[in-house]
Amino acid sequence: MQAELDAADTLEAPYVNVHLGAHTGAGVEAGLDNAASALEALDVPDGLTVLVESDAGSGTKLGGRFEELAAVLDRCDSPLGVCLDTAHAFAAGYDLSTPEAVEETVAEFDDVVGLQHLVCVHLNDSKHGCGTNRDEHAHVGEGEIGADGMAAVLTHDALRDVPFVVETPIEDGKSFEWNIDRARGLAGG
Ligand SMILES: [Zn+2]
Repeated sequence: MQAELDAADTLEAPYVNVHLGAHTGAGVEAGLDNAASALEALDVPDGLTVLVESDAGSGTKLGGRFEELAAVLDRCDSPLGVCLDTAHAFAAGYDLSTPEAVEETVAEFDDVVGLQHLVCVHLNDSKHGCGTNRDEHAHVGEGEIGADGMAAVLTHDALRDVPFVVETPIEDGKSFEWNIDRARGLAGG
């Protein structure tokens, strides 16, 4: 992780994104302590921010619940941001498949973590249903979140100034370019 930060500094990248990992049986609290202490031990170069990414929450992985992201932010003195991955959040049980559900999930994120900490969105549809904890990304608008949900995320007022990154698969003859065009279309051009 330190080598990644140093490389990002050389590249003048503004962010390094990381998952919290898994507690592998130690328990959620011990896992969060461990993740926080590892993040605190980093020497973060000026101009760089570490982002913790929301997880699908499979097995003992941390970061599926918004409370776990908030707990790590609380336990670290160094400033951290959050990256919200739509496929992961959906798999972790946060519904994003309708405009109403997106409204609720964004409000819950704001309550628990705080939208001021949201620095990036990974825009991915999900091959599996809400709450399945299964992490497989789908093309934008073609998974279980679907076009209405993706459009609601893309046009939500609170997310307007947040950068979006697609992490969609390259399959079925569809590339990143296809997904970016699809996202632009769903966002209203
Ligand atoms: Zn992601």
